[in-house]
Amino acid sequence: MGKDIVSMLPDELTEDFIRLGLPKFRAAQVYDWLGKGIRDFDGMTNLSKELREKLKSEYDIYRPKVLSKQVSKLDGTIKYLWELKDGNAVETVVMSYKHGNTVCVSSQVGCRQGCAFCASTIGGLVRCLEPSEILDEVMFSQIDSGKRISNIVLMGIGEPLDNFDNVMKFLRLVNCEKGMNIGMRHISLSTCGITERFDDLAAQDMPLTLSVSLHAPDDETRSKLMPANRGRGVEQLIDCCKKYYEKTGRRISFEYAMIDGVNDTEMHARLLAKRALAVGAHVNLIPLNHVEERKFQPSTAGHMKAFIKILEDAGVNITVRRKLGSDVDASCGQLRRKMQNKEKQING
Ligand code: SAH
Repeated sequence: MGKDIVSMLPDELTEDFIRLGLPKFRAAQVYDWLGKGIRDFDGMTNLSKELREKLKSEYDIYRPKVLSKQVSKLDGTIKYLWELKDGNAVETVVMSYKHGNTVCVSSQVGCRQGCAFCASTIGGLVRCLEPSEILDEVMFSQIDSGKRISNIVLMGIGEPLDNFDNVMKFLRLVNCEKGMNIGMRHISLSTCGITERFDDLAAQDMPLTLSVSLHAPDDETRSKLMPANRGRGVEQLIDCCKKYYEKTGRRISFEYAMIDGVNDTEMHARLLAKRALAVGAHVNLIPLNHVEERKFQPSTAGHMKAFIKILEDAGVNITVRRKLGSDVDASCGQLRRKMQNKEKQING
């Protein structure tokens, strides 16, 4: 197996070409093609046949295939299911807002975190994605949809901090001037709270937004919903968030999916307000997306209203996320699950 060329930064490719005895300017030409989304060496028409053959023997290159594409009739949200080179599948969602198009990418095939409300984790972790595979979710969502992508959220399938090195490399690739050139300030990385990695992330000096999936402000509720809380705890998470904010100066976002009768009481709202104010965090409330295999239901409109009022009265900075693509299963892992279920039915 050759080297994964799409996972390489321009300088790495240049160095590699020098090692192979190839002229430097050839690396720049190849990088131009890669930046345009060309994923076969024969498509690089300004290279000699001989050079193309040499590249084929040195490098691996692959273009993800669209397994399914659903376009929401309600809001134009597009959901892709891509087939990777080993036959695994991951989801990507393209959402259109007034300020531009946001792509939500997966970072792993499956997930080992086991959150009780999430569809992505049901079959466990299959494997981590390569930097090139995450990059190509963005690249081919843009090419296929014809919508220029200006923002990225790492909120698809997987826990990005469980695939730390590959995700960091992806961020460098997508941010690279000769690549897609998407600014770090337009990127959000979402985590269930793998606090051991917060210092490493801060040390990368990337001005992205860290989103923390809080979903409950107390250990009793949070440990029930999110196994990642067991052995870490909310207090420690809050301390690590504070430290991250002090180090980077980047305001943290708390994600909070409102679940009927589970995390939406007055007690939860008051404690959430306290947690958010302690960190200076912005709170993003999301009505839970019901997942077939899970028992949870979204909070009622009445409960949400009361919850929001407590947060607002306390002076917390909040937004309530619009539900997009609800007719195309556009939430975390639902499409991949459906596909697996279908395969199960077919294979008995
Ligand atoms: N592993 C990372 C990123 C992937 S999930 C994390 O945990 O943050 C992206 C977001 O969707 C997380 O906030 C996650 O908790 C949330 N999520 C998962 N299932 C959901 C559901 N059924 N309804 C609403 N939000 C959900």
